[in-house]
Amino acid sequence: MAFDVATLRKEFPTLSRELEGHRLVYLDSAASSQTPVRVLDAMDHYYRWSRSNVHRGVYPLAEEATDLYEGARSSLARFVDADPRGVVFTKNATEACNLVAYSWVRREMHPGEAILTTVMEHHANHVPFTHAANERGLEVRHIPLTSDGQLDLEAAGELLADGRVTFAAIGHVSNVLGTINDVATIADMVRSANPDAMVQVDGAQAVPHLAVSFRDLGVDFYAVTGHKMLGPTGIGALLADPDRLESMEPFLTGGDMIRDVTLEGATWNDVPQKFEAGTPMIAEAAGLAAAVDVLTELGMDAVREHEVALTTRLLDALDAMPSIEVHGPRDPQVRGGAVSFAVDGVHPHDVGAMLGSRGVCVRVGHHCTKPLMRSLGVNATVRASVYVYNDADDLPPLIDGIEAAQAFFAR
Ligand code: PMP
Repeated sequence: MAFDVATLRKEFPTLSRELEGHRLVYLDSAASSQTPVRVLDAMDHYYRWSRSNVHRGVYPLAEEATDLYEGARSSLARFVDADPRGVVFTKNATEACNLVAYSWVRREMHPGEAILTTVMEHHANHVPFTHAANERGLEVRHIPLTSDGQLDLEAAGELLADGRVTFAAIGHVSNVLGTINDVATIADMVRSANPDAMVQVDGAQAVPHLAVSFRDLGVDFYAVTGHKMLGPTGIGALLADPDRLESMEPFLTGGDMIRDVTLEGATWNDVPQKFEAGTPMIAEAAGLAAAVDVLTELGMDAVREHEVALTTRLLDALDAMPSIEVHGPRDPQVRGGAVSFAVDGVHPHDVGAMLGSRGVCVRVGHHCTKPLMRSLGVNATVRASVYVYNDADDLPPLIDGIEAAQAFFAR
């Protein structure tokens, strides 16, 4: 079941280089993961050998490119257990959320209705909906957190009680706290309060780390991003029911997404092409399909098992240090491998700079979650995040670097 990390690491060129004269220790996969050779090769192969545009060409090379692109859609659909006709390629998770905000929230919601979301959302699953709410005169309600960084579902029940919530935007896994939210249960709660309500889930931090079944979750929209799941930058997806997509107005318009165009207007292509205006990211789709192959071969249960084991060690190591406060749940079973913490008396940027000078890559800042930072009472955190290619050898350089920052900066 388990995979061999030392063998796997050889597939990731960046992991073999040095940084500042040290072995590069990459603990920032929650921001973006490393890229295996297989993904690089898939993209290179398209540009070298199958280079042409998709969908419109009648010559075999164009058919080859189309097969690559549409094959990638089928691969991703299989991986997340969704209907390929309900997989809309976007440039990232942010665009997927905006598609929902423009084609659903702005068009289908009316003053007097409310959006339910949480205080832990990434800006990608927050700003598009508050922006739409402000323009449409919608109320926005926020599920608060419990003291260990989980969603307070009792409070959520109260926020739903009047039946006015017709749309919910919930993150599957927090990029700061690591919390895995029970989105299926929340979707049930939302629909019990209002059977017509729609549920949008931000899966940017979930699909790389957990076995996700879009069908089993029973939500309406699900945002995916490729660059955190070993894939290239520049590709993501929105998952939805194809009939739902059929009923919606397009987000972006132009070439490829039309059935017919007259001087006066246009009619729309079938889904999902209706939502994919212009030449799509063909090489990136090929790269994403290769990333899906790598993750499928590792096995998502094994990916999760590896992450729980390593996160446990990381939390234990941080717990054993003086003056460190970890944000988010302590139980590795209810959280992912993104671990945010504060080092008492040392600014997160100083911790990050000290670690960087020792070859250790962590993220510091607000992590695109300013409302969460405010609710935690901090401006920024240090975040170390682990993935499939990390192992226990990556932890001592992190801990030593934090100790060095404490010795150098703490007053
Ligand atoms: N949601 C979460 C939870 C994230 O961590 C991120 C990436 N930081 C996003 C959404 C946005 O992803 P992208 O930048 O690929 O659109």
